[in-house]
Amino acid sequence: MRPIDFVNRISYRRMGGSPEEKETARLIAEQLKEFGYEPQIEEFPIMTYVPGEGELVPLEPADEAIPINPVGLSADIDDEGELVVLDVPEPEWIDAEQVRGKIVIMPHYPRWKWLEALTSAGAKAALVVVDDIRIRAYIGLSQRVAKEFGEKIAAATIGYKHAIKLVNEGVRRVKIRTHHEKFDGTSQNVVAELPGHTDRLVILTAHYDSTPCSPGAEDNAAGTAELLALAERLAGKKFRRTVRFVFCGAEEMGLLGSKAYSEIHSDQIDRTDFVINLDVGGNPFVPILIRILGTDDLEHYITALVRREGLPVRVRQDIYSSDGMPFSRFGVPSLSVARFGISGRGHSPYDEPWRLNNRALEQIVDVAGKILLEVADARLLPFPREISEENKKKIEDYFNLRK
Ligand SMILES: [Zn+2]
Repeated sequence: MRPIDFVNRISYRRMGGSPEEKETARLIAEQLKEFGYEPQIEEFPIMTYVPGEGELVPLEPADEAIPINPVGLSADIDDEGELVVLDVPEPEWIDAEQVRGKIVIMPHYPRWKWLEALTSAGAKAALVVVDDIRIRAYIGLSQRVAKEFGEKIAAATIGYKHAIKLVNEGVRRVKIRTHHEKFDGTSQNVVAELPGHTDRLVILTAHYDSTPCSPGAEDNAAGTAELLALAERLAGKKFRRTVRFVFCGAEEMGLLGSKAYSEIHSDQIDRTDFVINLDVGGNPFVPILIRILGTDDLEHYITALVRREGLPVRVRQDIYSSDGMPFSRFGVPSLSVARFGISGRGHSPYDEPWRLNNRALEQIVDVAGKILLEVADARLLPFPREISEENKKKIEDYFNLRK
């Protein structure tokens, strides 16, 4: 299977909980069956939405309506109010008098502490300014933020070019309207296994969902296709460790697939030795990066391995916001392989498959394959099955920030 062919097949919007995401899961399972696996589709519940629409009409001074997009899982609104720009660095700076009953342009992504401060101060609605190439960005609240604040405040994204015009023209009062359909849905992980001589596990992950506005080619039809290509190469082989492929759903909504997987299978975490995650690929103009969560020993081991194999890869210990994280939170070392950089278009409508290169995808299959073979077949795990204190702290900070 040529990875680029699979990228082309699934480069359409496939948001967590959508029918398109389900269809992609089916295509992955079908492909795995062709390679001789017996894939399982494991569903899990999520709160999700259909990307909606909205508008903002300047009233004082009056001007033409501007399109805005409701932030997924926030309240809908049809109301008018005073417009204020909130230019504070942290939510504790918010002056309740300044925002009560107002429509607020907020300086940050709508995370917990910001919405907590804005709802308790009684703000009417929050606007988030997004980059112009992401004007159609339907960002959403995390599941926990939605549960706590979703009904309490309307939020919407507004493109930079529109927002700057409002500010430069001194617009004081606006009317805003948003509408989007919210529902309790399901996403799913597609799981396939290559049984080993022991029940120790190495798990390979890649998410196949996309953000709501994006065809998600590099992020992450690329990793999905790379992981399928790796599954094809490994089919029928038997290693010391059991190798499990987990194609995760709803990653873009807050790592929901890998969180669900690691919780549903929490009884197997103790025998999971390592996780290799593939997220973002196919751009031949940026180098391959490996991000590691574990110990210095793991970093040295991987660095030595890629040098010995002559693989052009930059290795670093750091968090990587993707499906390896929930496993490492439970103490399993993980590694993410990616290619991204200045010319990437992830999370935008321009993340299209024509931008990708098959060789760039296959190089990641090679890198992940080399690492997997060594780890899966090692008699003793070649690095400690541990997360350093420093990395543990980074992981907890990450999950607290993103809650
Ligand atoms: Zn991704």
